[in-house]
Amino acid sequence: MPDFRVRVTKDYTVFCAGHFITYEGDRCEALHGHNYRAAASLEGRLNADHYVFDFVTLKKILRAACDRLDHRMLLPLHNPLIQVADDGREVQVVFGARRYVFPREDCVLLPIANTTAELLAQWLGGEVRAALEERAAAGGQSLAALSTLEIEVEETVGQTAICRMTLLG
Ligand SMILES: [Zn+2]
Repeated sequence: MPDFRVRVTKDYTVFCAGHFITYEGDRCEALHGHNYRAAASLEGRLNADHYVFDFVTLKKILRAACDRLDHRMLLPLHNPLIQVADDGREVQVVFGARRYVFPREDCVLLPIANTTAELLAQWLGGEVRAALEERAAAGGQSLAALSTLEIEVEETVGQTAICRMTLLG
């Protein structure tokens, strides 16, 4: 039996967010933003109803993950060049002589090294995977027949990073 894949991307699986990344060792971009668009794919065997996974559920899960990043400043917690200090009310971000202060509620502090499209895709993949596992544990579709989850993050038109992760059932 061949493997099949389903993929969802909708007008609402998007997030508008601010960020800056470090690059070439010690350089850092100026603060800017993107209208990101995400897609999620699941690969696996067909279930008893002859589909890989319910499109509606996958869309909802991906949207919920995107909503966590929408209209926020995305900040990496594990970048050795960017210090992020959260006092619960404000977040202070320091890169060399540059200092930014944001309201805490406007920020998402991510356990990643850089807010590249690749690592945002990996983070979204973790959120989607956790939601799939949670639904399966609550009696939803089992992950046993699913082999791979793939998340795409388009940072700007024609510029997409893809993170592919194996699902171990
Ligand atoms: Zn950017």
